Amino acid sequence: MITYSAPGRVNLIGEHTDYNGGFALPIALPQRTHVTFTPDDADTLTVLSDRADTPVTIALDTSPGRIHGWGAYVAGVVWALRDSGFAVPGGSMTISSDVPIGSGLSSSAALECAVLGALSTAAGLQLDRIDQARIGQRAENDYVGAPTGLLDQLSSLFGEVSHALLIDFRDVTVHPTPFDPDASGVTLLLLDSGQRHGHVDGEYAARRASCERAAAEMGVASLRDVQHRGVEALSALHDPVDARRARHVLTENDRVLDFVAACAELDFAAAGALFNSSHASMRDDFEITTEHIDLIADSAVAAGALGARMTGGGFGGCVIALVPTQLTLKVGDAVRAAVTDAGYAEPEVSRVYAAAGAG
Ligand code: ADP
Ligand code: MG
Repeated sequence: MITYSAPGRVNLIGEHTDYNGGFALPIALPQRTHVTFTPDDADTLTVLSDRADTPVTIALDTSPGRIHGWGAYVAGVVWALRDSGFAVPGGSMTISSDVPIGSGLSSSAALECAVLGALSTAAGLQLDRIDQARIGQRAENDYVGAPTGLLDQLSSLFGEVSHALLIDFRDVTVHPTPFDPDASGVTLLLLDSGQRHGHVDGEYAARRASCERAAAEMGVASLRDVQHRGVEALSALHDPVDARRARHVLTENDRVLDFVAACAELDFAAAGALFNSSHASMRDDFEITTEHIDLIADSAVAAGALGARMTGGGFGGCVIALVPTQLTLKVGDAVRAAVTDAGYAEPEVSRVYAAAGAG
């Protein structure tokens, strides 16, 4: 019997930078998805999850379109492994998880990475973590049909206790960097709005197209190629909306690197200020926040947070805040009160920290 688990993730800073060849800085979360796998000689894999009512049976020669719903994430991993030339055994698998589903904390990558780890351990495969991330991404893109980048899988696979992961999407490298606010009396609070936007895909595609147009107009393949020139490079752009979208990307990349430096120096006041400027950039330049999300971030700061920002693709999801530890209850209460007074559902407030990656 093989047991394997993989965590969810939250991105500390660096939003909508991945598809622009930029920087992001996620941490792996303490919440994990656990897989128990008993291989046998069958040509099927039967999977049961404590988050789903009925088991799913997957033929080992499955292909995209054959399985829908949550089982597609598991079937996608089986398919992507076999399609990459790796034989995997059948058997029975049980899954349990405390990663919130659909909150933007990447329960999907936690599931893919845990299943992938269990299957490749059983098959005796030695895949490096970048290759594992690409297999998880293929499962999600080509089998499930969700057009997502590599950030989620890289975070789940490379996570380290007390470290954030500086990902450079230009060459797809991952550099662990110190992130331990608790040791300095600062807590990372996660405030889940519960808000889920229905039109995220279209908004995402529009932002992506703006960035691509801006890069093309400046004669480069990716916005990363003008990063060294700073925002002055954007004065050549004709469309003011594209220019603002691109300005978010360039300034956000700088904030990621500044945030890494602030955390290494244990300067969490500076780190908090970078959360605030990142949030303002997502609100004003990239226009991906909502009034509900802005209220959560603003009320956290008003109650004493060092800084707060939306995390994830936008239009809902979670806010993260760096809060002096003695103020965490006060900040949580103040945000709940402000949000419910405005007529929104009460947010879920929890304390999170950088935890270990898949294993
Ligand atoms: P997120 O990754 O932000 O949680 P997604 O929509 O990308 O949201 O992925 C959520 C989907 O992943 C769920 O709807 C379900 O199909 C699948 N999933 C994730 N974790 C589990 C689990 N433990 N058991 C069954 N399905 C899961
Ligand atoms: Mg997901």
